[in-house]
Amino acid sequence: MQDTFKHQGLRKKLIETISQKGIKQQKVLVAIGKIPRHLFMDNAFIGFAYEDNAFPIGAGQTISQPFTVATQTELLDVKQHDKILEIGTGSGYQAAVLVSMEGVVYTIERQKELYQKTKEFLPKIGYNCKFFYGDGYKGLATLAPFDKIIITCGASEIPNALINQLKIGGKLVAPIGSGNIQEMKLLEKISDTENRITTHGKFSFVPMLSNKN
Ligand code: SAH
Repeated sequence: MQDTFKHQGLRKKLIETISQKGIKQQKVLVAIGKIPRHLFMDNAFIGFAYEDNAFPIGAGQTISQPFTVATQTELLDVKQHDKILEIGTGSGYQAAVLVSMEGVVYTIERQKELYQKTKEFLPKIGYNCKFFYGDGYKGLATLAPFDKIIITCGASEIPNALINQLKIGGKLVAPIGSGNIQEMKLLEKISDTENRITTHGKFSFVPMLSNKN
């Protein structure tokens, strides 16, 4: 499967769509314009790769909607060499966006099947990050602290373990809510005892789960 002029043209349209929806950060749009999203999807859905929708990726999970990926990435405010922890590797698309913005990415997935598939796939198409199989609620204590943390599944609250693994001055972006709809929260760590939390619209994610299947 290749990246053709047709795919590139479709990505241009996708970028127009998400910028009309409010994404402003140029480097986020550039990253989404570069990454061949159709390679992250099951064959059955390849024709839909450049529509602004979420799609199934197997194991009951989804690749997030491009606008959602762009919103989270914009809020994260990625700087070159930022050390970034992602919870919910899934297809690896969000991780690829962060790598393409020159972040150093550590990503955790709790489903073995997806962990293995994405760990093999992502480096093959040129996006290198560090893959972990485990429970994102716990984060990666031995590799902390991180400049940025992004949760890509819906959690009922921001896990304290993750706040503890964030650098002072760091940012954490997470969809928070217990039902099907979550609110996008940005937590900025001001000091060891003080965080600023702001809300940035409603989104729908698969739930964050703590017990492995
Ligand atoms: N970032 C992904 C989105 C995948 S959907 C992408 O770009 O494709 C969310 C993912 O979070 C799923 O793969 C799901 O298995 C995973 N997940 C759910 N609970 C988790 C947990 N506690 N720890 C790590 N991953 C988890």
